[in-house]
Amino acid sequence: QHPVYHRIDGPIVLIGFGSIGKGTWPLIERHFDYDADKFTVIEPDARQANFLRQHKLNHLQVALTPDNYREVLGGLFERGKGFCVNLSVDTDSLDLMKFCREMGVPYIDTVVEPWEGFYFGTTNNAERTNYRLRQKVRDEKARTPGGTTAVSCCGANPGMVSWFVKDALMTLARDTGRDVAQPADRDGWARLMRDLGVKGVHIAERDTQARRKPRPRGVFVNTWSVEGFIAEGFQPAELGWGTHETWFPENGHRHEEGCQAGIWLERPGAITRVHTWCPTPGPQFGFLVTHNEAISIADYYTVGEGADPEYRPTCHYAYHPSDDAVLSLHEMFGSGRQQERHEILEPDEIVEGIDELGVLLYGHEKNAFWYGSRLSNAETLDLAPYQNATGLQVSSAVLAGMVWALENPEAGIVETDEMDHVRCLEVQKPYLGPVEAHYTDWTPLQDRWEHFPEDIDDSDPWLFRNVLAS
Ligand code: NAD
Repeated sequence: QHPVYHRIDGPIVLIGFGSIGKGTWPLIERHFDYDADKFTVIEPDARQANFLRQHKLNHLQVALTPDNYREVLGGLFERGKGFCVNLSVDTDSLDLMKFCREMGVPYIDTVVEPWEGFYFGTTNNAERTNYRLRQKVRDEKARTPGGTTAVSCCGANPGMVSWFVKDALMTLARDTGRDVAQPADRDGWARLMRDLGVKGVHIAERDTQARRKPRPRGVFVNTWSVEGFIAEGFQPAELGWGTHETWFPENGHRHEEGCQAGIWLERPGAITRVHTWCPTPGPQFGFLVTHNEAISIADYYTVGEGADPEYRPTCHYAYHPSDDAVLSLHEMFGSGRQQERHEILEPDEIVEGIDELGVLLYGHEKNAFWYGSRLSNAETLDLAPYQNATGLQVSSAVLAGMVWALENPEAGIVETDEMDHVRCLEVQKPYLGPVEAHYTDWTPLQDRWEHFPEDIDDSDPWLFRNVLAS
């Protein structure tokens, strides 16, 4: 009953067989026609070798490095054919993307990842921002427009949430009595968001997946890459900086180069708390962990340009990870050292919980509107193997991005904001569980403890000053 979307001729190379790679492989197998003997997994971790052998998948047990990637990938790909699916950590997305485009091989990833060493290798925090990583990809797009399609940052977030923003805007337009046609270009979307009075967007997530066993002390437990989460959690907090903001954080910094849509704070994202809202918990703290979509969405929906545009939304991640991950962060930052043991919650050990991941559009005439996926692990078990709910929200976005890339083979370098969200969600939605819209009258000034003074400005509840927890 599963649609086979396209035939992929030539080699398919899956780089990284961690929690996301392992969940993406069965979706590729299910939804594409290809020659199984031309499917290769590049995975340096010997612990995956047995699984790969049992499932008759070609395995190249090697870590890609700046010195070997051209040779390794060049030895696998044929010019103008196949697909490169990069779901690894510690490999430079831009280098791999450039090489694939030179070879005429379509490419997709879920994050702008740098080579090993970037995240902890410098004390210059501006250098460690996602803004810098993203800008390099945008500069390459500007330098080499068009050509073989390379989809940048097409996971759940970054990725799917950009498609949700568009669905949410059309829903909000309809629900506020506006008869608007779907915008045809970036400028049209930006103007629609402005005309709807949206001041900003939280990527608002609550992950309640849990296993029965209490988290052992000294172990970092997460529902997806521990390495990836520690790396991004220790980057400076970053956000797209909107035109409605009247105050600037004391520890905030702007960028002189590039699109100038974002700012960064002199503090790690995973201990920077914000007030936010999701349907299950209602009001909650989220962590302001840096993410590509915080910058890309603020950039895409800008009317005007540069540091002082006519309109730009504030945009940032507001992430409440699984309870075990919150405890793991608490322990890690408190002790000043990373746990050596890492565990990712397996789908068959999770006894309850959902990953509730959506976009909260705020500041408009209906106050705030959450739109997103509320996928449970229990439902995930019925939908696809080898992954929990978090994983399926990511892997199904990779599937949708691959379908889109095959249907748009000469689109050049694109972010998910620039793709056809209707087509992508059509492919992805069967894997997302309930995709729901929720209005709320909650604002960041509500449900606070009143016993201590706080630095707030009640002239506009949706100022970042009020969202940022003291
Ligand atoms: P993971 O840590 O479970 O797996 C990463 C894999 O990459 C590991 O198996 C590791 O051995 C392999 N690897 C490490 N160094 C490598 C190298 N030099 N060459 C080739 N492979 C190498 O991570 P995951 O949860 O599967 O996540 C994979 C990537 O996807 C990460 O970059 C993560 O940040 C990203 N991600 C994105 C989203 C999103 O929604 N956009 C969500 C989750 C994960």
